[in-house]
Amino acid sequence: MLNEPTLVLNKSWYPIGTTTVRTALCMIFREAAWGLDPSDHTTHDFDSWASLSVLAGEPCIRTVRLELRIPEIIVLTSYDRFPNRRVPFSRRNIYRRDRYRCQYCNARPPVSELTVDHILPRSLGGHSSWANCVLACLPCNRRKGNRTPRESGLRLRRSPREPRWSPCLSIPIGKRKPSWEQFVSDHYWNVELEA
Ligand SMILES: [Zn+2]
Repeated sequence: MLNEPTLVLNKSWYPIGTTTVRTALCMIFREAAWGLDPSDHTTHDFDSWASLSVLAGEPCIRTVRLELRIPEIIVLTSYDRFPNRRVPFSRRNIYRRDRYRCQYCNARPPVSELTVDHILPRSLGGHSSWANCVLACLPCNRRKGNRTPRESGLRLRRSPREPRWSPCLSIPIGKRKPSWEQFVSDHYWNVELEA
């Protein structure tokens, strides 16, 4: 129970990650976070959280003196920084955006056989940017050479663009609690990885 995940929201109620129930309770106790009641969106310090009644059948933590509801969501009390909503342009994030697939033939070879291709080659003035870089397998890369896709007879399967920031991409759907949905649903974050 104590190792179950708890969703962490920053002070502006944006999800910034998860922690364990154990850590979440410590954070509420230290006043680093409030417990959030997903049913009515009220926030609670430790005493207030401890005074919430545990509903019948609801999992809880029992100590000698009290029954504690499991905090499924906490809100940080002081972390006020708005998370960076831009995905850093990096090799790793190009791989993630393109899902480890060649963007020309859709092959998914071993990572070592994928390269970052400049759609408009650098020698022709192409920039290193989200819109001009895609993953290509070695055969497509060789075939393309220093030419444009059109010149080499290759077609992009989708037009590349900057992915939208999502802090919760890393939380598998099956691991999310229903109470988190209002904060982390793909619909809410509008994750656009494909054009
Ligand atoms: Zn390919």
